[in-house]
Amino acid sequence: MRDKTIIIVGGGIGGLCAALALGQSGWHVRVLEQAPQFGAIGYGIQLGPNVPPMLARIGVRDAVIAASVQPDNVMMLDAFDGKPVTVVNTGAEFRARYGGNPYLVVHRVDLHNILVAACKAHPNVSLDEDACVTGHEDHGDHVVVTIADGRRIEGTIVIGADGIRSRLRDSIMGASEPAQTGYVAHRTIVPIDRAPRGVPLDDVVLWGGEGFHIVHYPLRDKTIFNIVAVFETATYGEKMDVDAYRAELDRTYAKSQPVMREMIAMLDLDRRWPIGDRKPQRGWSKGRAVLMGDAAHATLQSYAQGAGMAIEDAIVLASLIDGCKGDFAAAFHEFEAARLTRTARIQLESRHLWDRYYHLGGIEAQVRNEAERLRTDEDVWRCLDWIYKGV
Ligand SMILES: Cc1cc2nc3c(=O)[nH]c(=O)nc-3n(C[C@H](O)[C@H](O)[C@H](O)COP(=O)(O)OP(=O)(O)OC[C@H]3O[C@@H](n4cnc5c(N)ncnc54)[C@H](O)[C@@H]3O)c2cc1C
Repeated sequence: MRDKTIIIVGGGIGGLCAALALGQSGWHVRVLEQAPQFGAIGYGIQLGPNVPPMLARIGVRDAVIAASVQPDNVMMLDAFDGKPVTVVNTGAEFRARYGGNPYLVVHRVDLHNILVAACKAHPNVSLDEDACVTGHEDHGDHVVVTIADGRRIEGTIVIGADGIRSRLRDSIMGASEPAQTGYVAHRTIVPIDRAPRGVPLDDVVLWGGEGFHIVHYPLRDKTIFNIVAVFETATYGEKMDVDAYRAELDRTYAKSQPVMREMIAMLDLDRRWPIGDRKPQRGWSKGRAVLMGDAAHATLQSYAQGAGMAIEDAIVLASLIDGCKGDFAAAFHEFEAARLTRTARIQLESRHLWDRYYHLGGIEAQVRNEAERLRTDEDVWRCLDWIYKGV
């Protein structure tokens, strides 16, 4: 059975982790990636302490930790008065609570390079670039995956790890568009010495205001500074020029803290990303095809856990496939049963935090801030245990 090929559509973080996990269990795996090169966009990503144990299962934990920064705190500040709203202390006590596992921030390119190198070094894993999958056929005892250039690739099963706009999802669950929030993100990295004076440089910081936020943190031995500005705009679906983007940003952040406006002035305006998610939905598999990661349960980044969930999926799915003795449909059902409520809770609570916590103004923000000031470290950690204690 293991000599048969498992096809993974999408060489993002989730797809590569699944390829490694299956390859290491003796399966032959072929990853089909639409891009001309396996790679990631050049910005940062946060990984909670639930993620390192998953990375350990595929042998890349130490490499990822070595490439990461471990922030002292993850905090939210009020964009209008600049005061702390919530501070999650991620120091020694936090790590001890979560089995010795740290909170990490890492450059996506570095994370991707570690995963690609590990896949390339494994004889059971092959990576195909320039392979845009258009669909799949289920022949009962095998699948055929079709590629835009006309190739047809046979496998024993197919895993759709092809992200929020997954083709595989369309054929398994029916075609549908992600839900748009009306928010967009601009991302930038600058040398750390260009970070505005007075902003915390050892922490992950989110400044929240009505209809907008900024997240920033250090990367690569704290030599560079990652900034993400996210805000609501009626033009979220439009591509506009740099001057129009600049005018929108200046208007949106006009009343925010001066350091926030300094960061806004640094943003790279060549590209913006509309922010969307999916509602939790059942039915992640059909016959010999299954979805994982964003393809199954795309979420807003309120908990910074989309990639974390994709990595957890990869490990859980690979282990169920490995133990299923050829009954793949049963393994896929068990996978969905094991992962549905955890990923759905991330999706639902992320929406709630987005609408009812991060982006408040006026009296609502005042009430939030006052309530938060009563919470101790222990209170905050207890609320996060269900995520960070992992699977
Ligand atoms: C602004 C922002 C900030 C975020 N911050 C965080 C964070 O701090 N922490 C966190 O955990 N998550 C974060 N996320 C979410 C995270 O990026 C995603 O959840 C994660 O990348 C999902 O991984 P994936 O492997 O499922 O899908 P993706 O990373 O989307 O990978 C899908 C891959 O499939 C390929 N593909 C797509 N279609 C096809 C096709 N037809 N044929 C072949 N290949 C195809 C794509 O090219 C891509 O390589 C953030 C998201 C955004 C937008």
